[in-house]
Amino acid sequence: MKDVPGIFASMVFGDDVMRARLPKDIYKNLRRTIESGRQLDPGIASVIAGAMKDWAVEKGATHFTHWFQPMTGVTAEKHDSFISPDGHGHVIMEFSGRELIRGESDASSFPSGGLRATFEARGYTAWDPTSYAFIKDETLYIPTAFCSYGGQALDKKTPLLRSMEAIERQALRVLKLFGNEDVRRVYATVGPEQEYFLVDREVWKLRPDLRDCGRTLFGAKPSKGQEMDDHYYGAIAPRVAEYMKELDRELWKLGVLAKTKHNEAAPAQHELAPIYTSVNLATDHNQLTMELMRTIAERHGMVCLLHEKPFAGINGSGKHNNWSLQTDTGVNLLEPGDTPSENAQFLLFLVAVIKAVDEYPELLRVSVASAGNDHRLGAHEAPPAIMSMFLGDQLTEILNTLEAGMEYHEGGLRQMEIGVTVLPRFPRDTTDRNRTSPFAFTGNKFEFRSPGSSFSIAEPNIVLNTIIAEELSQFADVLEHADDFRATLDALIRRTIREHRRVLFDGNNYSRDWVEEAARRGLPNLLTTPDALAAYATPKNIDVFERHHVLTEAEIRSRCEIMLENYCKTLHIEARTFADMVKRAILPASLTYQNTVAQLLERKTALKLPVGLETRELLNLGTLTENLVNNLDTLTGDLAASQEGSTAAERARFYRDHIRTDMEQLRAVVDELEARIPAEIWPYPDYGELLYSVR
Ligand code: ADP
Ligand code: MG
Repeated sequence: MKDVPGIFASMVFGDDVMRARLPKDIYKNLRRTIESGRQLDPGIASVIAGAMKDWAVEKGATHFTHWFQPMTGVTAEKHDSFISPDGHGHVIMEFSGRELIRGESDASSFPSGGLRATFEARGYTAWDPTSYAFIKDETLYIPTAFCSYGGQALDKKTPLLRSMEAIERQALRVLKLFGNEDVRRVYATVGPEQEYFLVDREVWKLRPDLRDCGRTLFGAKPSKGQEMDDHYYGAIAPRVAEYMKELDRELWKLGVLAKTKHNEAAPAQHELAPIYTSVNLATDHNQLTMELMRTIAERHGMVCLLHEKPFAGINGSGKHNNWSLQTDTGVNLLEPGDTPSENAQFLLFLVAVIKAVDEYPELLRVSVASAGNDHRLGAHEAPPAIMSMFLGDQLTEILNTLEAGMEYHEGGLRQMEIGVTVLPRFPRDTTDRNRTSPFAFTGNKFEFRSPGSSFSIAEPNIVLNTIIAEELSQFADVLEHADDFRATLDALIRRTIREHRRVLFDGNNYSRDWVEEAARRGLPNLLTTPDALAAYATPKNIDVFERHHVLTEAEIRSRCEIMLENYCKTLHIEARTFADMVKRAILPASLTYQNTVAQLLERKTALKLPVGLETRELLNLGTLTENLVNNLDTLTGDLAASQEGSTAAERARFYRDHIRTDMEQLRAVVDELEARIPAEIWPYPDYGELLYSVR
């Protein structure tokens, strides 16, 4: 491909386009809004809208849309054309400032968790000038936040923007204490690594479970899974390579910094990682990435699966959320420094993260909770549901030394003083890795590995920004009033390490021992989504969100409700799909096969031949089929009872305790039948056909 720099961001109304096309004073005004997060002067909106429209029309756009991120987890859009009658039977292309800044939207069909009754159906979308507009499919996309008329957040962007403000405010307070007078802005930065599966569209079409639920609900183990480790980083098949090239090209046009691509551990599994950017942009870009992954796969005769666990017994897909904090002066605040003072500052930010993870594990758990991710967390391929942190040998050793207040020196042990003593430089050691930890320090950033592949990264980052803002604000409160800054800082860092070290764990997070050890340490292990959500709207959690103006209590409760409903609906659809597949295809197939065996038995009996084998096979099949029908009946019975709970939490518990178990039991029988019934009678493609469908 030629001229990558030339096509990069060619479809984005970015800074250079704004500078070139806007009058100087208006450009400056807009830049100020983008940089300060302050409200845009409505007077200039029409000029910006005009420039945007001219640019978009030159690029072939006919429509515009506000693009927002409702609680469905995917994006939403409604296209309007630029046309406007000119009064002489023709049209001109128009786009007003009002249309740019604010859109009205019938919000009644989006989940609101009770925040908005259907009779007050109006919601509105508001332009987010900090994320650039772009053109896709001849349409100008305007990133927006989505609120109810009362101003309550109905989306994922609003609280994300609020959380960015919160962490910036608190980080600036701390930075000022260290004398960083030149720093004006602090951004949370994120680079999300995105995993996905590709399957051939023709094979995919034959599996209603993949089509309607995004995952297989049954499937006998294939003869070859991922045990040979031959797919991870393996040569990329030509068809996949073509797909990846087109994906890169389309993402680059939209200004997405697609960087790394490779085959992942499971057959048919791949990964794409971008270069990190500010979290708001990273979130929008990740949504675009997931969308393009899907649509471009269609063009290549494939389907992209973003479900957390499309195939049992084979690795699922996650999304590693690499997170750090960066100043407008270009300093990564999680990068250990060279001077004693830089080191002290780094340590303070580090212990703020440690304290946050230890104090708010439930919030982190909720931010990655879904029916799909429940199959993945703790399945020995992804971190367990226990939130702990990995720091690596070196840093752990340093924290131990600090806590003890002692430092090893040539002359023996001596008192160690943070901010005075030069700490050893911590080299970024790529071998010092723990792939089993949910939250790992990787040299100059934290990698949160629990998010599921289909998630919006907004949720985990809203939580990270908020809880770390809280710890920084507590630190700033103490330090701003300190008579002796250095001594107070010293004591603060030591105390924080001492009080929160239980959340640090460098061992194997997949082991049974860790589950027991974590329980002894008092770390929560919230295995399922209903468990996690039961620990969500607690006074402590409501308090931290409200204190930093990220979410109100009503917004939190509505989000909880939405997530519970979502959990129930997901399991409901899965159960119905499964029951249908069993009734209409799997049961008939097993009867057909029994009939074949019975006919053979009859004929052999007529010929006076021994029929021991046929008899045994028939009896086995008979028993299995009977189990099949019994399990199916249990599932349908429980489905009928599933709507009885009066609250969403009650219904979610019912789905977890009954529907989920029923499906597991039904699956065990189906998988056994699949392993016995000849391929030409079995009605669905098997795991082997699905996993090796793209060559
Ligand atoms: P690793 O090998 O440690 O996983 P990579 O350099 O491959 O590191 O980075 C993985 C992801 O982390 C990439 O998306 C990268 O852009 C992102 N990343 C690197 N530095 C930062 C940072 N300071 N803040 C946020 N994300 C970062
Ligand atoms: Mg990584």
